Amino acid sequence: MQRHWLVTLQNLSSSGRSWDEDVSGTLLQDKQYGSVNVLPGLKGDIHWQLSAQRQGKAFRLHGAWQACLGRECSRCNAAFDWHLAGKTEREFQFMARHGAEANDDDEQSCEYIEHPGELNLIDVLREDVWLAWKADVVCSETCQGLCQGCGVNLNVDDCQCKQDDSNNPFAALRGLNLKD
Ligand SMILES: [Zn+2]
Ligand SMILES: [Zn+2]
Repeated sequence: MQRHWLVTLQNLSSSGRSWDEDVSGTLLQDKQYGSVNVLPGLKGDIHWQLSAQRQGKAFRLHGAWQACLGRECSRCNAAFDWHLAGKTEREFQFMARHGAEANDDDEQSCEYIEHPGELNLIDVLREDVWLAWKADVVCSETCQGLCQGCGVNLNVDDCQCKQDDSNNPFAALRGLNLKD
């Protein structure tokens, strides 16, 4: 089942290949498998629609994925499910053999891979998710965060700063009418 995600580009048929399936979260979290770091907090599987096509000398991967990762909100610190969607856009070419010229027009966007092009798609997917990773994420765009004063989570509690001002030396002033 793990070999399922190993592709040899050289063997790709002219019609290409496509996948529309859930990539096992267990496999994506398996440190023994692949060479790209596993994804912390990954929940469940990642759905991936992917196609691999041959285009002249190049091989194109094109697809989209949806993942769910357990994260902490950078405003209120609460744990939440971070739903993330992204695209896969890769182009590979074989490295030029000794003596051969390697000058193609669009070298920038292209990755070079050794013949016959053994590709571990689990690594490709992990890399895609890492590229989409954001350090600061919020549980909701409307998250109120924590009060700077009393530290309560303003999404679930009322700020205590104004209510409990027994220690506040100016609290007594509130009762005075300063206009008189
Ligand atoms: Zn939040
Ligand atoms: Zn407060």
